[in-house]
Amino acid sequence: MTATAPRDEQLWSRCGGCASLLYRKRLRRNLDVCPECGAHARLDAPARLAQLVDPGSFTALPDGAPEVDPIGFVDVLPYPHRLTAARTGTGLAEAVVCGTAAVGNRPCVLAVMDFRFLGGSLGCAVGELITRAAERALADRVPLVVVTASGGARMQEGVLSLMQMATVSQAVAALREAGVPSVSVLTDPTYGGVAASFATNTDVVLAESGARMGFAGPRVIRQVTGRDLPDGFQTAEFLLRHGQVDMVVPRHALRGRLAALLAAAAGGRRPAPGVPRPVRPPAGAPPTPTGGERDAWETVRLARHPGRPTTLDYLESAFDGFVELHGDRLGADCPAVVGGLAELAGRPVMVIGHQKGHTTAELMARNFGMASPAGHRKALRLMRLAARWGLPVVTLVDTPGADPGVGAEQQGQAAAIAENILTLTTLPTPVVAVVTGEGGSGGALALAVADRVLMLEHAVYSVISPEGCAAILWPDRSAAPQAARALRLTSADLCRFGVVDAVVPEPVPAAHHDPAATVRAVREAVLAHLLPLLDVPTAALVRSRRHRFRRFGAARLGVRAGAR
Ligand SMILES: [Zn+2]
Repeated sequence: MTATAPRDEQLWSRCGGCASLLYRKRLRRNLDVCPECGAHARLDAPARLAQLVDPGSFTALPDGAPEVDPIGFVDVLPYPHRLTAARTGTGLAEAVVCGTAAVGNRPCVLAVMDFRFLGGSLGCAVGELITRAAERALADRVPLVVVTASGGARMQEGVLSLMQMATVSQAVAALREAGVPSVSVLTDPTYGGVAASFATNTDVVLAESGARMGFAGPRVIRQVTGRDLPDGFQTAEFLLRHGQVDMVVPRHALRGRLAALLAAAAGGRRPAPGVPRPVRPPAGAPPTPTGGERDAWETVRLARHPGRPTTLDYLESAFDGFVELHGDRLGADCPAVVGGLAELAGRPVMVIGHQKGHTTAELMARNFGMASPAGHRKALRLMRLAARWGLPVVTLVDTPGADPGVGAEQQGQAAAIAENILTLTTLPTPVVAVVTGEGGSGGALALAVADRVLMLEHAVYSVISPEGCAAILWPDRSAAPQAARALRLTSADLCRFGVVDAVVPEPVPAAHHDPAATVRAVREAVLAHLLPLLDVPTAALVRSRRHRFRRFGAARLGVRAGAR
């Protein structure tokens, strides 16, 4: 509002969502979120900064916005006149404000875009300022946080504005290479060249509630396709459902969520100096197979019991402060795989696991823990993120197998599993896997190529389900119990083969009788195996992991035969 606006316009404001007339001071106190309908009004960059950073912590980077009119653009007005008008109207030098600050006491560099300034468009100066912000983050080794609000590239600067997408992306790539975290916060609206570069190629992408993001705007898409668009098209919730963003965060929770992310990013593993030494299993946690006596088919039924703790149960009790990250960035978010940042005894870790459920409804919603290609690609994305941030990975394996559907095949299920296995063999960070229930085939291995593989006492791990094996090699599926015995899929068997390093004992008679005790046992076992790995230099760690899986070749067969 300008100083000449009528007095009542300064005091009152009409909600863009529900048209309620709201007292401006009350609206501001509510972070410009309508108390009636929850609509998030757009914020300018100074208001956004005031909401987001610790009070008094912001120091602007010297903007020195270069004066550019690279192509001498004139429409009805010369471009420099539009620039001058935008500067007068906003009090800003350009469409982005950059500086250093703290969020929840964690230092970071922020670049906050302002849609009021020529639609937050990405011109040469904006690209230069955000690139300098990224370079400052790299020099200081603190996370970069970009808050986007933009209609896209600035057409008045022609193709040179298009180049800014590459310029800023290159700076983001340098952060990635150096393991310096980058986070973007999508606010309404984020479109075009900004959406197709640093808004979405950062490590973690948050969308504020109510934000819309896309490459092409709805008006263009309607014109091109001649069709009406679905309800909620390109909204934050739509983006989450289609795997494009890690999470949707209401404005009130944004600062806290950002602080949690920065804390996790700051707690990463520092590569241990010194001489590489061989990796040995931790003392005091020897393999303790005790389930060998039980019939294998009975163990299969226990491993599938719906009362066993699920990955989300472990995340709730064995870990602290779980921040779930969603999506494969390619089009979907698979509910059968959950993953994100959490703390284990005060250390940040990345946890990735299959999610089943305790009820039929939960199991159906999670596709019985059978991951789609999108699930495997989400897991892959999180593994790589963990490596960049120096966080160890803990995987929890509980799946009958990868999703065997038609859609899964169309989307490249085999290649998705293959890529995970390949990536895990050389992932430069410690990985501990726990088979907590069913370790079904390639879907299980896609999360289980690890430095240490643990297994709950009554879990199973197998190349194929007993039913599947019986259907192929016996006259019919009713031979599943015989197949279960023949496959040697119990924890005791797997320990003997060296596929599993240690068995985590379950409460008597099995995990579902005392889920809390089971969760505690898994937590202790993971800690016992993970902590020694944290001191191992990365090269030695990866070498040991490769050796671990190399020995399952022909040389191993004699030992295996002897174990029978
Ligand atoms: Zn409203």
